[in-house]
Amino acid sequence: MTIIDGRGIARRRQEVLHREVARLEEKGIVPTIAPILVGEEGSARVYYRAKARLAEKLGIRYAGVELPTDTREEELLSVIASLNVDPRVDGIFIELPLPRHISWEAVSRSVVPEKDIDGINPMSMGLMLAMSGRAKNYRQLSDRADVLLPATPMAVMEILLEIGVSLAGSEAVVIGRSLSVGRPLSLLLLTEGATVTICHSKTRSIDKITRRADVLCVAVGRSRFLTSGMVKQGAVIVDIGINVSAEGIVGDVDYEAVATKASLITPVPGGVGPMTTTMIMANTVKCALNRA
Ligand code: NAP
Repeated sequence: MTIIDGRGIARRRQEVLHREVARLEEKGIVPTIAPILVGEEGSARVYYRAKARLAEKLGIRYAGVELPTDTREEELLSVIASLNVDPRVDGIFIELPLPRHISWEAVSRSVVPEKDIDGINPMSMGLMLAMSGRAKNYRQLSDRADVLLPATPMAVMEILLEIGVSLAGSEAVVIGRSLSVGRPLSLLLLTEGATVTICHSKTRSIDKITRRADVLCVAVGRSRFLTSGMVKQGAVIVDIGINVSAEGIVGDVDYEAVATKASLITPVPGGVGPMTTTMIMANTVKCALNRA
């Protein structure tokens, strides 16, 4: 079994991004990311700060906006509207969770597709779906200037391709069907030629399905959900889950037991997470390149 070094893969990608940013700056364009944090929720703040650190490392300008918990929805929409038209801002990112009184649907619609670095606008999702039908593979889709893919599914695809997992013709199983992770990841795996099955809370005999998987991606949000009995010998396991437990941050996979059966496995932390933040920066650089 080999542990997939998500941090190492992310670092190598960051070196490439750093050079791209330097080239853009020579042309007078400073890629700029504007994450928006509403309220004091701990995990949202952790991600907000992580973006600030990585942006600084890469030479990307960080134009974060912090708003209090009692910010009204119209106020947030007006902040987004001004970032949408600010010519110095390339990428807009909304930190989650938002306070309950703010509608995610309204917010996600309000980010213009050209600056939508996590692919949350229905227009961005539509473009991803439409263009996936025209692309021969994932790379052709992700390389398109007019398509911004959601960061976490992108992170998973980039990791799998980087370590040389052959997806075309493989049996891929995704557990989780959320709009931000499970659904788009299934589409990207399909675009790369995998035969994809999506499992969710209503799936019957889930273990029968997961045991077929050559590549098994888990995005459920429950500690140690995937046990070794659910896994085929030699499968590639991608653990997307981030759960806070008494032991600290753990994934959705019962790591020690599943690792004995897997050929390759992502750890948590240090797997998909670092690559996700890197993909947010990659999308910001793409937006800046489009501006250039
Ligand atoms: P979500 O919106 O809560 O979706 C969870 C999915 O899991 C749903 O589709 C749900 O099915 C399914 N599910 C729940 N219980 C199940 C069960 N017993 N059997 C089968 N499926 C079940 O969560 P998410 O946003 O996709 O996030 C999933 C996990 O990934 C979380 O731990 C989150 O923190 C993590 N995450 C990590 C990153 C990263 O960068 N590594 C990024 C984003 C999210 P139904 O649709 O039927 O309810």
